[in-house]
Amino acid sequence: MSSLAPDVPANGLPIWDELPPGGVSEDAGSTSRRTMGFWRGGGQRPLIDLNLCVQCLHCWVSCPDACFILEDGQVTCINYDHCKGCGICANECPPMVNAIVLVEERRFG
Ligand code: SF4
Ligand code: SF4
Repeated sequence: MSSLAPDVPANGLPIWDELPPGGVSEDAGSTSRRTMGFWRGGGQRPLIDLNLCVQCLHCWVSCPDACFILEDGQVTCINYDHCKGCGICANECPPMVNAIVLVEERRFG
């Protein structure tokens, strides 16, 4: 008889209770070895205003390239070497806070 939640999956992947809560990726994987900043080229750069930030960590959780740097559990800055300018972080920052704005990359010369 088959089980809906086997202890050891046949494919060798982790079982459900070995996954991080929320499916958050805790490891940047290959991202840490590749710089994607040049992708911003003609695109946009996210700027964070820490005076507005309420440290909800939505940006940290949602950034696909793990660009948000935390110190003592708080967002402190963005790693632009890996930021590709997708804008997800600005979209996920709560609208009533709006601590991340996207600025045209060409303005930074
Ligand atoms: S623009 Fe995209 S890659 Fe850059 S920090 Fe925001 S979510 Fe991450
Ligand atoms: S999503 Fe916005 S308010 Fe939340 S930690 Fe990031 S910058 Fe701060």
